[in-house]
Amino acid sequence: MISEKIQLLGKYDDIPSVLTLKAIPTVSELEYVSSEDFEQTMLDKILPEAIEEEVNLHNLLEIDFQWVCRCLRLINYGPYLTVNRVFCTNGCGIIPGEARVDLRTVKCIPLPEDFTNDIVIKAEEFIDYDQDIHLHLPTIQEILNANKDKMFKRPDGSTNTEFARICYMITQVGTKTNVPPISIKAEIEKKLTSADYIVLKAKVDELTNYGLRAGGTTTCPKCKQEATYLSFIDDKFFRPTLGDLREGKSHRSAGRIEDVSTTESATV
Ligand SMILES: [Zn+2]
Repeated sequence: MISEKIQLLGKYDDIPSVLTLKAIPTVSELEYVSSEDFEQTMLDKILPEAIEEEVNLHNLLEIDFQWVCRCLRLINYGPYLTVNRVFCTNGCGIIPGEARVDLRTVKCIPLPEDFTNDIVIKAEEFIDYDQDIHLHLPTIQEILNANKDKMFKRPDGSTNTEFARICYMITQVGTKTNVPPISIKAEIEKKLTSADYIVLKAKVDELTNYGLRAGGTTTCPKCKQEATYLSFIDDKFFRPTLGDLREGKSHRSAGRIEDVSTTESATV
């Protein structure tokens, strides 16, 4: 049975910094999971069976949830993924068509050594707003809650997930601490100008830009220069093609599948 130790990106009081990942159950819910319930199914059904330690996975930071999923994918299915298009950075543009890419080219930005998960946007960053705003990297459970919070429903029934996310990440405005998302929403809607909302979104993106990147690099099928591809941690991520699996196997038997995950370096 395969198993592998992986190092988490975040530091937790209630979760060890190294987890042991095992094989995904042979007949798993992953086979019929959809993109809407992917995260919930991973959290409730797949990860508790695939992680040896007993931990409350709902407390995992979102970036660690993605990191664990990525490592689990590499351990079980190897590093190859078939994507539907690549983007040549050398001038060929978007190249449609199936291409096999290597997930080990997806970089991960680790948290700084002294990271405390209390991120501050100073009042002077804003154009008009005059309060400091504190936020934190969200847990995967907070993101699930945000995504289904009815407060953020648009008239057409879809959810404004970007706004919901921001409201769930902010914890403190000025001197008011532990402010719930509903009050953050009211504060942003009533007190922030649209210019300051743009500042807020940009600062949140900049200050929380950690964890796995949304894609990696490959070779352009036309000019053989560098191309990029997108890969998201979703249901399709866990559905390798037979070709992906065989490619992974040939590399494994050649002893070339190095440890997928044990370091938290920026290059894995
Ligand atoms: Zn090209």
